[in-house]
Amino acid sequence: MNSSLMSVYARAPLAFERGDGVWLHPSDGGPPYLDCVAGVASNALGHCHPVLVEALAAQARKLWHVSNMFEVPEQNALAARLTGACFADTVFFTNSGTEAVECAIKVARRYHAAKGAPERQTVIGFSGAFHGRTYGALNAAGNAAHLEGFGERMPGFVQLAIDNWQEAAKAIADPRTAAVMIEPVQGEGGARVMLEPFLRKLRQACSLRGVLLIHDEVQSGMGRTGKLFAHQWHEDVAPDIMAVAKALGSGFPVGACLATHAAASGMASGSHGSTFGGNPLGMAVAIAAFDEIANPETMAHVSAVAAELREGLKELAQAYPEVIAEIRGKGLLIGVRMVPENRAFIAAARAQRLLVAAGGDNCIRLLPPLTLTFAEADAVLERMERACRAMPTAAAA
Ligand code: PLP
Repeated sequence: MNSSLMSVYARAPLAFERGDGVWLHPSDGGPPYLDCVAGVASNALGHCHPVLVEALAAQARKLWHVSNMFEVPEQNALAARLTGACFADTVFFTNSGTEAVECAIKVARRYHAAKGAPERQTVIGFSGAFHGRTYGALNAAGNAAHLEGFGERMPGFVQLAIDNWQEAAKAIADPRTAAVMIEPVQGEGGARVMLEPFLRKLRQACSLRGVLLIHDEVQSGMGRTGKLFAHQWHEDVAPDIMAVAKALGSGFPVGACLATHAAASGMASGSHGSTFGGNPLGMAVAIAAFDEIANPETMAHVSAVAAELREGLKELAQAYPEVIAEIRGKGLLIGVRMVPENRAFIAAARAQRLLVAAGGDNCIRLLPPLTLTFAEADAVLERMERACRAMPTAAAA
């Protein structure tokens, strides 16, 4: 199986022919799976949401692609929505999260170069971060396993321990520092929430030292935590630059780098580009998705259903302490730190027709669509319990 594909993925032996909301129907005709992977936090409105299907189909009948040699009015429409909803003034559209991160790094370095300080290149990242698989993103996160065999580390990137304020303050004060990059809630790292005081101190120190603050909200953004962007839970922590993707296209590959006018002041004609970024198909879907997600009712629902899920998971953690060590995360970016190996639990959950994702720190992640109903949340908890019971380590509750 998959013999003509590059063997970079440890895929589950499962294929699907159809998706419908939170349900995925396997190709073998068996019963559907309850999908709490959601395309790794991408399918924010579930599979084949009728509004998105209609937006895509309508655009597909009109125009697919023209490139950025021409005006793409849909880009303006989506950029207006995004900038109207957060700190940013200006947007560059990409096809993926890692491209949005690359753009963020380039925006930050160009800002300093244009101000006559080209030596300001260092991008400070944090342990446990994940920013994508292109070279800049890999070097910004500094995960040794992801970098191994790909040549020398790129200069101009350092990683610090999370929550070590002294170290961060020193690095930010270094005159070669261009930017700080952080996920307000780490996704791949295991649904780790950055503490508000740390985010605020980062913001203040960056402002004081003329360093740009980049938030990677590729996973935490677009409603997943119950606010449109995770940093919006807190006052006075907003970044200068932000990478988003995943739920932005809600299953269609769309990403974006957002910035203030000041932060983007170094970007001029020719300084960046993309053939497909902001293509009309992606924009049509993302506009429709934005209008659904940014609806205050959707955000209120995320918080309510997430609270119910979290409560149920805490009860499970009490009933199965041999299986569940900790519940963490924010909104519907939920991390469950496991006692047994997380991959073993993922297989046990799959046997219960529940799909969950792995995460760092031996976590599993529950990343259901934001549209998950309360009844579906109960079904998630029932299947989680059956998976807990099926673990060899579990004592009967
Ligand atoms: N940044 C974060 C926080 C992510 O979680 C991811 C993907 O998981 C990326 C960047 C990279 O996004 P993509 O896989 O679309 O390149």
